[in-house]
Amino acid sequence: MLKIGVTGGIGSGKTTVCRVFQTLGVPVFFADDVAKQIMVSDPILVAGLKETFGPQSYREDGSLDNKYIAGIVFNNAAELAKLNALVHPAVFRAFDHWVAEVPADCPYVLKEAALLFESGSYKMCDRNILVTAETQVRIQRVMERDGVSEQQVRARMDKQMSDEEKMKMTDYILLNQQDHSVILQVLDLHHQFISGL
Ligand code: ATP
Repeated sequence: MLKIGVTGGIGSGKTTVCRVFQTLGVPVFFADDVAKQIMVSDPILVAGLKETFGPQSYREDGSLDNKYIAGIVFNNAAELAKLNALVHPAVFRAFDHWVAEVPADCPYVLKEAALLFESGSYKMCDRNILVTAETQVRIQRVMERDGVSEQQVRARMDKQMSDEEKMKMTDYILLNQQDHSVILQVLDLHHQFISGL
């Protein structure tokens, strides 16, 4: 079974592209959603977070105090690195467990992760897809989706690894502009993956 990583910068439409693959019956692991879940449910990770950032990382009802954690790691590269060093391996473990549950005759699965390249996760995938779109299109999408300003989107974009860097590491580039070619590109990749190419 092939493991295919999918990533893309903010507003590139990586989640949307993965949803298209899902309509073809392809199992998709959404790493960022899983990361949020296991920060509450994985005992090893919870213990590590409490040890690193203090017991106040969790409220009395066991829920994660996102604001508290965000306050520590925001604009602090060293603290962010500590958080990632705890969360990324836990997500890798969760992915392995998830893959083990996928029927063995399934030709391939997707792993969607915003930090696919930054976390090193791409090295554990057989192939990787970078979803991209023109900067202005991405900005417009996020402004509409999140109700934020162009400046706010650009500030988030500036913190991410550039598409140019990601292009050096990816196997496929999927251009997700507003047209129907997205579906054709997905079908093309799907046919390659199901025939084991
Ligand atoms: P983020 O990293 O911010 O979570 P993302 O890369 O996962 O973003 P999506 O959430 O899939 O991006 O897409 C961003 C927005 O753009 C969504 O509102 C989505 O519906 C829209 N969108 C994505 N692709 C297209 C497309 N081809 N045509 C029109 N709208 C699109």
